[in-house]
Order: sequence, then structure tokens, then C-alpha cells
Amino acid sequence: MELIMDKWVKPSVDISKWEFYDLSCKERDATNDQVLKDAVAAGARIGSIFKEPTITPTKEQMASMGLTKALGSPNGLMRRGWNGITISRDTIHIPGIELGFKRPVLFERHAVGGEYGAGWKKVGKGRVLTTFFPESMDEGKPIIVDGREVKDDRSCVVVYDNPLDNVEDLAHIFFQRCLEAKVVPYVVTKKTVFKWQEGFWQIMKEVFDADYKGDFLKAGLLEKTHGELQHLISDAATMQIIRWTDGGFGMACHNYDGDMLTDEVAQVHRSPGFITSNLIGKREDGALIKEFEASHGTVADLWHAHLRGEETSMNPLGMVVALLGAMDHSASLAQDPQLLQVTQHFTKCCQAAVYAAFRSGKGTRDMAGPEGQTTEQFVNWVAEELGR
Ligand code: NAD
Repeated sequence: MELIMDKWVKPSVDISKWEFYDLSCKERDATNDQVLKDAVAAGARIGSIFKEPTITPTKEQMASMGLTKALGSPNGLMRRGWNGITISRDTIHIPGIELGFKRPVLFERHAVGGEYGAGWKKVGKGRVLTTFFPESMDEGKPIIVDGREVKDDRSCVVVYDNPLDNVEDLAHIFFQRCLEAKVVPYVVTKKTVFKWQEGFWQIMKEVFDADYKGDFLKAGLLEKTHGELQHLISDAATMQIIRWTDGGFGMACHNYDGDMLTDEVAQVHRSPGFITSNLIGKREDGALIKEFEASHGTVADLWHAHLRGEETSMNPLGMVVALLGAMDHSASLAQDPQLLQVTQHFTKCCQAAVYAAFRSGKGTRDMAGPEGQTTEQFVNWVAEELGR
């Protein structure tokens, strides 16, 4: 990103008002994680964020980096801090090049709840009673959610909840995006067996029937689903993702299903470098906070190869599409038509130059094969194209 900022962005864009937060493990450790809290507060204030991949350090990484304390997932704090509604993950398409899917595939992954926020303990034989206490006792008596006998010598008891208050917001975001991209919407759960997932489907369907069904019918997008919003069981969805390589569909799902299914989409679509990953949250005043990132990680193996002096070929498309998305969103929040126009001019040119590189065989090696460019060659080629 340093190369991209220096060679593509800074020559054309005034970044003096951008704010930067160093979320490296060392900086988080040194500031007692204040830097992450500052980044989350700034994100809520500004409303448009580009984030590079980060590490949630393992015990081994803590030791090797000399960290003094365990650090939580930055993504988790951001999802909570920005009232995360959904993580939108979509396929990126380069005009003129066929990747895995011919047409767009859109994903809405519920950003909260489920296994990620679970409480758990390893236990032996005994009994477990899970009781819900209403916030106010006026709202009713405690409810026993579950009572069970644990019969094995070694078990793991897990408790989690699926918050439903923001599923309506997720539904609006999803259906609007599907309409705009002209793709068929599906709602994915395992509600046939996991009965508690029924609520997610119900809310999605209510919003669809009330506000979107007519528009989808008019757009001819419900022909494959008999004129209705279709539910898809998550295990069936895993198979369809491999079969439906024509693309042209969207899936909305719970947090963990979204995590798994979008990795599958990334594989079918050639590389995690060709998938976006945008968190949409909501500020207290109702304004949307949008955080843009690539779906891949820190490409640690390539970084270590680079440090050893070896050639690397890192595909920056996912990160660049995220950066350009954050710039466009930021400019649209400023409500300054001229700023929006010049920003969009730059972001369109930059995207076109990156696509041109891939189309003319000057892409990175994950796309172009062994003849493809190194990381630095690719950045320089696009920089020259942008200068023209
Ligand atoms: P990774 O996505 O960084 O890499 C997986 C493999 O795919 C590697 O071989 C890598 O070289 C290759 N790859 C990925 N993106 C590529 C690209 N754009 N161009 C060329 N090759 C590419 O995943 P990992 O190695 O499992 O994780 C490395 C670190 O990143 C871990 O510490 C993990 O926790 C973190 N991570 C962070 C995020 C995030 O912040 N959003 C997401 C995933 C992983």
C-alpha cells in the first residue's frame, strides 16, 4: 500500500485531510490498544474507512513480536464499534477477462452474533441450565432457555445469541444492492434443523414482500424462483456456488455461514484478490458507516519472501478497489458535487489503469501466470498508465 499511495494516489490526490491509524500489533501493544479505539472513534466520525489486513496475534506471534499482552481481533471491535449490520462481499470483474463467475455474485454476511460472540467452558459430567433474565423484571419472569444433562467425561458447553434488531437494515441493503446489480436474491440459513434461525428468514421475507417484490418482478429477477423470494439451505448453497458459475445471484446469510460461503466464492472466482469485503454499520444519527477492505490477509508468505530479497507478485486489486470505494464514499458524504466529480474521475481512471494492466497481460502472476509482473513492476506499469 505504501507503493500504491506513493506512486498512484499522492501524485494526483490531496490527502492532507486523510487520517491514518497504525494497527500493527506493535503499535497496538505500545499504546495499550488506544490506537485501535482511536481508529474506531475516527471511523464513526468520518463514516468512510479503508482498512489494510491486520493480524490477531497467536501466542507464538505474541512471543516473536515481544508483545506484552494478548490483542483481540480489530475487525471484531470495529463491527461492534460501528454497529456493524453486514459485511458485503462481492466478486470483482475485470471487463474483457473471464474469472470464475461470469456475472456478479453478491453476499451479505450478518456482521454480528452467532458463534463469534459465544461464551463457552470445557466441562465434565453434570447438568447445564441456561436462563434468560429480562432487563426489567416488569417485562416478565426469567425464562429457562435450555436444560440438559451432559453425559460425557469431556464436553464443551457453548452459549450464544443471534441479534435480530438490525436484520431489517441488512435486508434493505441487500435487496437494494441486488436490484442495482440485477441479480437474483436468495436467503441462506440452516433453519430446517437450526430452528432458531427462522427469525432471520422471516424478517428478510417481510421486508422483501413489503418493499421490493414488485420491483424484482418488474426487473424479471424472480423467474428462476417462481415469483417469490427463495430460501436456500446452507448446505445446498455450498453446492450451488460451485454449479452456478454464470453468477448473477446474491445470498444473505448468518455470520458464520457468510464467512465460509464467501471463501468458497473466492476460490471459484480464482483468488481472494477478486472479492470485496465492506462492513456497513450505522451511526447513532442513522448515517451509514462504510469500511472497505480486501478479503485476503496480510500475505505473510509474500512479505517474508520480500524480506529475503526474493521477487513477489502480489495482486493489489482487492485492496485498491477497497481504497477507491472508500474515497468515493467519503466524497459522497461531503455533499460537495465538485469534490465528488474530481474524486470519481480519479477513482475511475485508477481502476481503468489496473484493469488495462490485467487485460494486456501485464497482470500479477496469479492471473497472468509465470510471465506476469512482480509486485513492483505492476505498480510501476499502472503508475505510468495513470501519468498518461
Ligand atoms: P492470506 O489471505 O494473507 O494468504 C493466503 C494465501 O493466498 C497466501 O499464499 C497468499 O500469498 C495468497 N494471497 C492472498 N491474497 C493474495 C493476493 N492479493 N495476491 C497474491 N497472493 C495472494 O491468508 P493467511 O496467510 O492465512 O493469513 C495471513 C495473516 O492475515 C494472518 O495473521 C491472518 O490472521 C490475517 N488475516 C487478516 C484478514 C483481515 O484483516 N481482514 C483476513 C484474513 C487473514
